[in-house]
Amino acid sequence: MKYEVVLTTDRTMMSNHHRKEFLGFVATGPPIALPEWLWLYITAPKPKVDKEGKPLEAPYGMRKVEAKLIEAGFKAAIIDPDHLEKHIDSMRVLMFGHHDYFAYGPPSSEWWSLTGLEPVNRRSFKRLMEKPVIRKAKEKGVKFIAGGPAAWQWLWELELWRKWGVDTIVDGEAERVIVGLVEKALNNEDLPEYVYVGPSDSPSIDEIPVIKAPSVNGLVEIMRGCPRGCKFCSVTLRPLRFIPLDKILAEVEVNLRHGIKGVILHSEDVLLYHADGVKPRPEPLIKLHKAVLEKIGSEGDIGWAHASLAAVKYAEEEHKLISKLMNDYILNERRKFLGVEVGIETGSVELAKKIMIAKSAPYPPEMWPEVVEDAFRIMHENNIIPAATLILGLPEETPEDVVKTAELLDRLKPYRSIIVPMFFVPMGALKKGNWFLKDHIKREHIEVLYKTLKHTTYWAGEIMNKYYLRSPVYAPLRYILRYFIWYVNRRADKFIKSLEYQIKS
Ligand code: SF4
Repeated sequence: MKYEVVLTTDRTMMSNHHRKEFLGFVATGPPIALPEWLWLYITAPKPKVDKEGKPLEAPYGMRKVEAKLIEAGFKAAIIDPDHLEKHIDSMRVLMFGHHDYFAYGPPSSEWWSLTGLEPVNRRSFKRLMEKPVIRKAKEKGVKFIAGGPAAWQWLWELELWRKWGVDTIVDGEAERVIVGLVEKALNNEDLPEYVYVGPSDSPSIDEIPVIKAPSVNGLVEIMRGCPRGCKFCSVTLRPLRFIPLDKILAEVEVNLRHGIKGVILHSEDVLLYHADGVKPRPEPLIKLHKAVLEKIGSEGDIGWAHASLAAVKYAEEEHKLISKLMNDYILNERRKFLGVEVGIETGSVELAKKIMIAKSAPYPPEMWPEVVEDAFRIMHENNIIPAATLILGLPEETPEDVVKTAELLDRLKPYRSIIVPMFFVPMGALKKGNWFLKDHIKREHIEVLYKTLKHTTYWAGEIMNKYYLRSPVYAPLRYILRYFIWYVNRRADKFIKSLEYQIKS
């Protein structure tokens, strides 16, 4: 088929990350300890493609845009970046999507700031845009439209925006605006340079299409938006919408039909699916898990994209729901754990009150450290492995706040988890705040960095061997990652000492 609208992205996004979603995050770092090609092998192996260069699996957000365009009658398809040449003659619009085009998002910007080296995702996207086929497309008059969660980053790279000839940036949920923009592009009408899709233009449930082809690692969306209102987060500006179960199952079917047996339930808080405000309800969650697990069978893996720590604690303490979901539905001979991202952000009650007053709800913000610790214990006991984030350098943060975070890290030591500290990136209601960079680091931050590094390298070994990369097919990957952990651990003390020296001088 000849495609007039082609969607693509760079290799760090166009990959199934060895079917281990978390390995995708490795691309947020610079290539230290290993050559870049090996780094890319770990994080972003090439996907299977058909003879037209369409990948078997593609990033979920791009699949949604592709589906919207197909439903509107366009000849549109996602094409792997190595196969764009096949469509150069028919292509009239080329679209790009990314989570982190220029590595300004967390944690890429942090690794970059700390090491002074460009992260792999940024290098990879720049390489894509400099490819002869992309240059040729521009010379031919193909219109370029870029979007996705990292659309805002183009505002920090005006020179590259102009140099590469990107016509339009779409910042926000694209479903309601993308068809009109592509029509304009195909009719050679003038395109707006920047389209900001605010909450009032968010698509309704009926406007959100079902994907037409598989998503990376079987990711399917179960809801959009989040009611907690954290000031540093842009998701919170969007209205809350629950995707009906039949649409969720239709997307699982699409993935299964193409041999993708696993599913990652995507939401900013999976446990709030049809919740009573911020209080998880057993009935919709059990119904959702039962239906999805029946579809994928005992062989399929399941993961949650995100969950809030307050919901974990509430669900277990009020309804024994975490242990019920894990023991009665999720865990089996093959599925030994469930991975999820969670946000700690700070251990300080005072700071939590200022920037994320509802993060602990239905518990009061004064209980935040206790909420975090209880949720970690509950997850540890139920074979849920969290990848948690902390934010350093939030506006209004004081040294005492950072000390509280360090104290909380001590309390979290016994619980199996990965904890990643991130430097504050101005977003959401705090988008006018200042970036937190290496020069702003104080002694208290160094302590937190050190504690997270030790915590994570300690637990990463066990997680890798016992849960995450158990199969013999992952042996080479396991050895490389083990070497990497050893290397990071060996360099950690030296690195921390050099940071201390830098803040003294
Ligand atoms: S809980 Fe998470 S998704 Fe919700 S507003 Fe806070 S940071 Fe954003």
